[in-house]
Amino acid sequence: MDELDPIVVVGGGHAGVQVCAGLAALGQGARVHLVCEETWLPYQRPPLSKSFLKNGQEPLQEHRAKSWFDESGITVHRADAAVAIARARRRLLLHSGQELPYGRLVLATGTRARQLPHLHADLDNVAVLRNADDAQRLRMLLAASAHVTVLGGGFIGLEVAATARALGKAVTVLESAPRLLMRSVSPELAQHVLDTHRAAGIEVRLGVAVGHFETEGARLIGLAADGVRQEVDLLVLGIGAVPEHQLASDAGLECENGIVVDEHMRTSDPAILAVGDCTSFPEPTSGRRLRLESVQNANDQARAAVATLTGAQQPYRALPWFWSEQGSLRLQMAGLMPADGIRLRRPGASEASFSLLHYAGGRLTCVESVNAPLDHMAARKLLEAGSNPDPEMACDPSKPLKSFL
Ligand SMILES: Cc1cc2nc3c(=O)[nH]c(=O)nc-3n(C[C@H](O)[C@H](O)[C@H](O)COP(=O)(O)OP(=O)(O)OC[C@H]3O[C@@H](n4cnc5c(N)ncnc54)[C@H](O)[C@@H]3O)c2cc1C
Repeated sequence: MDELDPIVVVGGGHAGVQVCAGLAALGQGARVHLVCEETWLPYQRPPLSKSFLKNGQEPLQEHRAKSWFDESGITVHRADAAVAIARARRRLLLHSGQELPYGRLVLATGTRARQLPHLHADLDNVAVLRNADDAQRLRMLLAASAHVTVLGGGFIGLEVAATARALGKAVTVLESAPRLLMRSVSPELAQHVLDTHRAAGIEVRLGVAVGHFETEGARLIGLAADGVRQEVDLLVLGIGAVPEHQLASDAGLECENGIVVDEHMRTSDPAILAVGDCTSFPEPTSGRRLRLESVQNANDQARAAVATLTGAQQPYRALPWFWSEQGSLRLQMAGLMPADGIRLRRPGASEASFSLLHYAGGRLTCVESVNAPLDHMAARKLLEAGSNPDPEMACDPSKPLKSFL
């Protein structure tokens, strides 16, 4: 074992497991300890708001079987959160009292659900959705409820709303912003999403001020929307997530809307790396700091971290992409939305299928696709290659986007 051993990874989510997988693929699994606060073996998170929530029989989709961790030589610590980092001694302290020495430490602690300051988090009929325990609880609450109020029109709120509607529930979405998906998609796409959800029978109210939560015992029974009392059967909070960086900030690592890392995923302590939703990283073209919550970002940052850990030095320069499934909508985004520029619509095979091409400074920078997976895959390749199709020609549906590569 050299002075850089062992490698301790904190957090068994997408990023943490991808770090393990990358090291195992290089035959270096025996160097690795994976510390998970959850009781489960690491599992895929996206189905939690989709198929797992809809189908009460569906099991968690594990990233890897237990036998894979065993055969790779990776030691997995389950149901044991990391509680402190003693940087001077290079020790990680676990909740159980165990101390793990590390040569390198990788923080992959993800995010936690944002809560409302005026609403008690432990009410019987109020739910958030970040992990498998939340999803199992929400499954049971949905089964016992006729009406679901979703607070927040972001991705997770809308996915839960669509799933609840598919289960036959009456659903109301309350969003304080003037439109849905305000931070992540274009106004045109947001309008299409709004129209589709309304057509499916979901009541969506925009620009609503919510407050005056009324409880009876351990239940929430009402809230005020724009000053008017609404009954509550089940309330789901979909008001975003905050980076889980307490461990890092307590240890004195630089944090600002996430754990601050460089393009090699190094934190302000050279022995500690961070990856995934918990990081604030420099966007390669502009250098401005970004924090993304996506499987792509978690996986690709993990790959960059493995390169750093093994001396290969591959900076994180991956193209951001994301997907969301909401009832009949499969949304896929590639690239980063420009602040301004022009947007063009590329029709798909039906009214329900199209892509929006975003050009800024004369260059294609982002493509949003609705039920158009081939356009999305082609857009990723175009953006990665820096191709810049003529806007008018790229909007001609008779020409496959991939033909512009
Ligand atoms: C319901 C839901 C649906 C989603 N759907 C999509 C989707 O459709 N498409 C998409 O691209 N993205 C989706 N995402 C986002 C995606 O799942 C995340 O971006 C991804 O999981 C980030 O990976 P991560 O490893 O950084 O964090 P996570 O997967 O959140 O993992 C972090 C892990 O660290 C653990 N942890 C935290 N602190 C400690 C500690 N002190 N000690 C030990 N363990 C700790 C946590 O318990 C957690 O298991 C969804 C997320 C959710 C919650």
